Amino acid sequence: MLNSAVFNRAMKKWSREGGRLVVISSPTAGGKTTVCAALIKSDSTCVRSVSCTTRRPREGEKDGVDYYFIGEKLFKERIRQGFFLEWAKVHDRYYGTPGRYAEALLRKGKNVILTIDVNGGKQVKKNFKDACLIFLLPPSFKEMLKRIKRRGTESRPAVNLRLSTAEKELKELPAYQYLVINDSLNEAVCRISAIIKAENSKIKHAKEAH
Ligand code: 5GP
Repeated sequence: MLNSAVFNRAMKKWSREGGRLVVISSPTAGGKTTVCAALIKSDSTCVRSVSCTTRRPREGEKDGVDYYFIGEKLFKERIRQGFFLEWAKVHDRYYGTPGRYAEALLRKGKNVILTIDVNGGKQVKKNFKDACLIFLLPPSFKEMLKRIKRRGTESRPAVNLRLSTAEKELKELPAYQYLVINDSLNEAVCRISAIIKAENSKIKHAKEAH
């Protein structure tokens, strides 16, 4: 007969505890920053990880909020120290996710959202098997160009560099588990939130359970 001890043992054995690393990647102007901000506002289980980068701040960006803007020497030192959970060189600049902060949040049961590039995403999946990888795409190439132009922060050569990176990134799509089309912001956020809930409701894999 079922009693509370048996019930609690089953819960502990099969349900997942703690939070999850959620990677959101997209080619340039895919809208991941906007989607991530809206997701965090609407879902209190989600927290954004703030990356370190060696690129210069864009107008309006704040140190410690958008990124930690650091020099290349310090970044390389931190790579050697194992400070990063993952890191990559994107558009000739270094970007990396600080490990300790993300791990503390995971322990608190938070879903840690990493808006990072595809190389970083693949590193995360290699080291954290239950990380959830979501690829975000604008609804069309035409819309993508429109969004890049609207942003207007990049010079022509910088836009071209981003487009050639985007072509390479698109090839990595099969390494991801989910594809979300960012047509309507609200719909994209609802889908991502649903994906995270579904992932966290999965029964613990037999190997993990023992
Ligand atoms: P941006 O300079 O436009 O903010 O970002 C350029 C690219 O770097 C984007 O694809 C962004 O997702 C990626 N990125 C930002 N932070 C990180 C990070 O910590 N790690 C990795 N691997 N990529 C990042």
